[in-house]
Amino acid sequence: MKVNFIDLKKQYSKYKEDIDNAVLKVLSSGAYINGPEISKLEGELAKYCNVPHAIAVSSGTDALLLSLMAYEIEPGDEIITVPFTFYATVEVIIWLNARPVFVDIDERTYNLDPSLLEKAITEKTRGIIAVDLYGQCADYDKINEIAAKHNLFVIEDAAQSFGATYKGRRACSLTETAATSFYPAKPFGCYGDGGMLFTHSDKVAERVKQLKDHGQIGGYQHKYVGINGRLDTIQAAILLEKFKHFEKEVELRQVKAEYYNKSLADLTTVPYIEEHNKSVYAQYSIRVDDRENFRNYMNEQQVPTAIHYPKPLHKQEALLYLGYEEGEFPVSEAISKEIISLPMHPHMTAEEQGIVINAIKSFKG
Ligand SMILES: *Cc1c(COP(=O)(O)O)cnc(C)c1O
Repeated sequence: MKVNFIDLKKQYSKYKEDIDNAVLKVLSSGAYINGPEISKLEGELAKYCNVPHAIAVSSGTDALLLSLMAYEIEPGDEIITVPFTFYATVEVIIWLNARPVFVDIDERTYNLDPSLLEKAITEKTRGIIAVDLYGQCADYDKINEIAAKHNLFVIEDAAQSFGATYKGRRACSLTETAATSFYPAKPFGCYGDGGMLFTHSDKVAERVKQLKDHGQIGGYQHKYVGINGRLDTIQAAILLEKFKHFEKEVELRQVKAEYYNKSLADLTTVPYIEEHNKSVYAQYSIRVDDRENFRNYMNEQQVPTAIHYPKPLHKQEALLYLGYEEGEFPVSEAISKEIISLPMHPHMTAEEQGIVINAIKSFKG
């Protein structure tokens, strides 16, 4: 039996009839852009996250970009973020000619280490993008407190954490503005690209609605330079069907993670989830010191693995101009050498998990 890393086809087969009908309904409606499914999805997700505004956009990357645009980032502004995340978090900062300033991560949660934050703040700092890596929220009470003291905005990059909670509050509600992604492999994925921007601010919401539609404030009245950042109606229709099963899937992810934890804790470093957090396990990532051998062995056992992420961002070719040096972010550098993600999805069977667990046991054996 072959184990899949993320089994999107299996998930689709479970909800196929409803999803097919929803897509066909959009196809015959003709409302391919801004159809009624868009505002319905926005309403449902705003309510779920307990945030007044949810705005559907074309990707998680665009949700981040539009957030920064709404805060009127200017060339030379500094935005603090982490070097251990998906590249898009940083790319959007550079698109706006602002400067990413990195702060290292906590070695247990792999999220921004708030104790390092204050040292990175200068008079050019405008805001912070904190990332909820692998589906676990960063420590927003601490981050928001420091940000408020220095009058900085905070954006939550919740691309991996939709559905997670922090002290009982949902991801996407933990800062003034948040961005999530519906990329197919994310915990709440559509069947193409998509994203959602959440905000508590009426001002940010109004601006983002204009910016995502070419900066229009009315028909062909362009007040700003915006982008085409809309979500397709078909994707919203798919998400509305999948949302009916989402809470159940979040719970299934807990069950799968607990089974891995129980079976692997003695063999390797399993994910550390803070007591006040509930992760959605966008990835279930462990640490191994001989990763290359481990990965090859798992391959031979037909167990797919993935590395998120093999190189911290300050060492990426495109970002060398920032001038950071080896050793400046020791935690990110160390984790990037050891981290490896195991197959994880809500519809994994115990038998499939058993194959993964046994392969790890025999490697360690
Ligand atoms: C996936 C991801 C993004 C980008 O989302 P897209 O929808 O693929 O554009 C941004 N940040 C993080 C942390 C991600 O994992």
